[in-house]
Amino acid sequence: MLNKTLAGLAKGLQQGEFSSVELAQAYLQRIKNEDSKYNSFITVTEELALQQAAAADASRAAGNASIMTGLPIAHKDIFCTQGVRTSAGSKMLDNFISPYDATVIRKFNAAGSVTLGKTNMDEFAMGSSNESSFYGPSRNPWNTQHVPGGSSGGSAAAIAAGLAPAATGTDTGGSIRQPAAFCNLTGLKPTYGRVSRYGMIAYASSLDQGGPMAQTAEDAAMMLNVMAGMDPLDSTSVERAVPDYTANLDAPLAGLKIGLPKEFFSASLNPEIAALVRAAVTEYEALGATVKEVSLPNTALSVPAYYIVAPAEASSNLSRFDGVRYGYRCEDPTDLEDMYKRTRGEGFGTEVKRRIMVGTYALSEGFYDAYYKKAQQIRRLIQQDFVRVLSEVDVIMGPTTPTPAFKLGEKTSDPVEMYMEDIFTLSLNLAGLPGMSIPCGMSNGLPVGLQIIGNYFAEEKLLNVAHKFQQATDWHTLKPAGL
Ligand code: GLN
Repeated sequence: MLNKTLAGLAKGLQQGEFSSVELAQAYLQRIKNEDSKYNSFITVTEELALQQAAAADASRAAGNASIMTGLPIAHKDIFCTQGVRTSAGSKMLDNFISPYDATVIRKFNAAGSVTLGKTNMDEFAMGSSNESSFYGPSRNPWNTQHVPGGSSGGSAAAIAAGLAPAATGTDTGGSIRQPAAFCNLTGLKPTYGRVSRYGMIAYASSLDQGGPMAQTAEDAAMMLNVMAGMDPLDSTSVERAVPDYTANLDAPLAGLKIGLPKEFFSASLNPEIAALVRAAVTEYEALGATVKEVSLPNTALSVPAYYIVAPAEASSNLSRFDGVRYGYRCEDPTDLEDMYKRTRGEGFGTEVKRRIMVGTYALSEGFYDAYYKKAQQIRRLIQQDFVRVLSEVDVIMGPTTPTPAFKLGEKTSDPVEMYMEDIFTLSLNLAGLPGMSIPCGMSNGLPVGLQIIGNYFAEEKLLNVAHKFQQATDWHTLKPAGL
């Protein structure tokens, strides 16, 4: 019963091949047996899962099952989950039991899905490798010497290792798409405002967006149906009808206009990745698409602009972790000042401290105009590039990452080298646009991702474009050796 897609599991449940409880038990057992190799879960919610699975079986028996009823999902440990530790990968929240559910969690629960547990992540979602987690790095099931990507690395590793059929992630600068690319998955970062951020621990509020990580575009569509929608508890969520994202998956692609940004195929791109992305585009031509070269001239500025805006917002968001209200507090403080300093000094890891310092500096009087304001101006230029190109083509395609999954420790000594890993993903978040990563080949035994970028609220189109490719190719069906 394991090794199926969400859609496959939904069918199995419908046809009575297995019950939700049997399914949950099978996944929990596999997590117990295997996760020491991958460290993909921070918390396994066995009791909750079995309780939800029993409730799912009961509602199916009563004739009230929806498509999601009884489907096991793992959630990134950034989504507040009532009664469950929600750590955001940080020592600061190691003792935090959330008193409420994030809207995303509430919606999955309401749809009848089963929470397997909370997945590993870079501390406060800051990272591209999962190595900044307080709980130690997660490992890539394709090669455990390599990183699974970040920051949603635990979600990606769990799915790739068959420990969960699908998972949630969040993407501030690539954290859904990059780990999806590194672990041969389908990941979707929705348009800013499409999915509620309520109860999603904030990293950079104007960039953060939750989304699905799955084995196929069809599964991602099923999940987005649950996740999307206006939420009165998130003033940046957008009031706009939610289509059935599974309805148009099979629409033909004849006449689809694809833009290939010449800046994405620059010297920093690994040549094997370039070749695989070009081969994927050729496949799209066979499906009826036309292709033209386009230009996103400010691409190179996305890394410096993002690494001002994101730390600036983070420095403000993380000021709430002061040892007073919740989370870690240092031992025996001598006075208030000492408590603040030592709580934050001991509770945050190195990368988080680096971001707080960069962000605070960029926002400080005298430097604000030179850094933060300038970064926001560049952000607008980046957005305008996309708006112009997306008025000429339906989707933009390119690589998700400049290299396949790198080795653990390979980039930890040089933060800028780590930041360069995000060159192709950051600009979408700066512009607020939706994007996907889907499997498009293998390089030395490691997966490669094709990035597909669409216009605002074009998630339905992206899923259709991704699904048609997955009907025509079988890259997405490849599994790590032995799994
Ligand atoms: N790697 C980027 C960062 O470290 C993006 C992380 C994310 O999307 N959460 O900020």
